[in-house]
Amino acid sequence: MIAIVGAGLAGLSTAFHLKRVPYRLFEKEKEAGGLCRSYQLDGFTFDVTGHLLHFRQAEIKALVEGLLAGRLEKHARRSFIYSHRTYTEYPFQVNTYGLPPEVVRECLLGFIATLAKPATASTAAPEDRSFKAWILENLGEGIAKHFMVPFNEKLWQVSLDELTSDWVSWLVPKPDLKDVINGALGIKDKAFGYNPSFLYPAQGGIAVLPQAFLPGVREIVCGSELVEVETGRRRATFQDGQVVEYETLVSTIPVPELVRRCTDLPEAIREAAAGLRCVSVYNVNLGVARERVSDKHWIYFPEPEYPFYRAGFPMNFSPTLGPPGCSSLYVEISHQPTEHIPPAVLLQRIREGMERAGIFRPEDEIVVADVRDIRYAYVLFDKHRARVLPAILAELERRGIHSIGRYGRWEHTSMEDAIGQGKKLAERLMGRT
Ligand SMILES: Cc1cc2nc3c(=O)[nH]c(=O)nc-3n(C[C@H](O)[C@H](O)[C@H](O)COP(=O)(O)OP(=O)(O)OC[C@H]3O[C@@H](n4cnc5c(N)ncnc54)[C@H](O)[C@@H]3O)c2cc1C
Repeated sequence: MIAIVGAGLAGLSTAFHLKRVPYRLFEKEKEAGGLCRSYQLDGFTFDVTGHLLHFRQAEIKALVEGLLAGRLEKHARRSFIYSHRTYTEYPFQVNTYGLPPEVVRECLLGFIATLAKPATASTAAPEDRSFKAWILENLGEGIAKHFMVPFNEKLWQVSLDELTSDWVSWLVPKPDLKDVINGALGIKDKAFGYNPSFLYPAQGGIAVLPQAFLPGVREIVCGSELVEVETGRRRATFQDGQVVEYETLVSTIPVPELVRRCTDLPEAIREAAAGLRCVSVYNVNLGVARERVSDKHWIYFPEPEYPFYRAGFPMNFSPTLGPPGCSSLYVEISHQPTEHIPPAVLLQRIREGMERAGIFRPEDEIVVADVRDIRYAYVLFDKHRARVLPAILAELERRGIHSIGRYGRWEHTSMEDAIGQGKKLAERLMGRT
């Protein structure tokens, strides 16, 4: 029997693709979906922070479009950066037009200086080069100063010298000089970034995606938390008392949580997993009694006077997510996993920041406010991760445990990747069985 732990998209996709093979899928929450969930509150539907679909793999796009046939809508991205009291389009490096001239000049001169640097500057392996060095080498001092460094330090909550650059290639587009100059002059001749358009369900929020997998999932047990694994005896114990003898364990829970629950792993592996770091995010969902507080899909905030790094407006991509005459927002604030900010303090800071940015008016009434803490939000790509992760995953696999998904592989990946990993692993396991 294959035991699958965690019914987020990675676990659901594994189960969905396992045909004619006995398995059971265990989920600690009362419902499936993991981070890809939505909930209703006083007439609003909120996702557990903004979750938009963008695809790089035709196969997974076709799968999702098949599961949600006729239920997805395509949107041309309206994402912006708010800095120097100005909105500029995302990504910053190719859209500086509209910023104060001295800022545009610094960004241009800094970028041009990177082109004149000797090639030796970037010979280090990505896991040895810091993210800060990558930014300076590839984008230059101006873009670093006015966006990349303040934004990323707010998001990651550590100095960028501590992060490696082995994850940036697809998330941070590196432009050509022509594109940077065009962007400074306001000339647009192509779309940039990993998601110039995105898909989103017309109704119901992003939860309709995991729900669409469920009819194809034969055996799922919700409210069942994995508490202990004896890897030698291949035995998993759940909080509700179930004890399962498995041949293969597919785990999609955060890898440090999994390792902590394994009773018989070498001490070196336990210590290595305990040293993996992540940043947490407060997802604050708001309903406001005024229509269209913004015309944008989402906005990035690099400057320190705004406590949030991003805010999005779900009713601008699915108007059914709230009552007529209202707006809804998801606001994201990073914090150290050990730091606790009381909800009232968060709400006060958000209100002040939103008014300062001109998004809220002083008379605006917030009719709904809900704070969720995403404990594992963004994993930190640091030297420790690069050094120990392959050994941890290999040791688990040697003991019949496949750790997949965004937190199972301890990486920075999307819904599409979680679905893709589940499918690939199921196909591999069926080949073997
Ligand atoms: C702030 C933020 C914004 C994002 N925005 C986007 C976006 O716009 N587009 C996009 O494509 N992706 C986005 N993502 C990424 C996306 O959420 C993930 O890639 C995807 O949902 C991961 O699915 P998963 O199954 O790997 O993990 P999860 O969704 O974390 O699923 C793991 C499951 O395991 C369960 N579990 C945990 N511990 C146990 C246990 N001990 N026993 C049993 N069950 C357990 C959990 O309850 C959960 O259901 C975002 C992520 C974050 C943090």
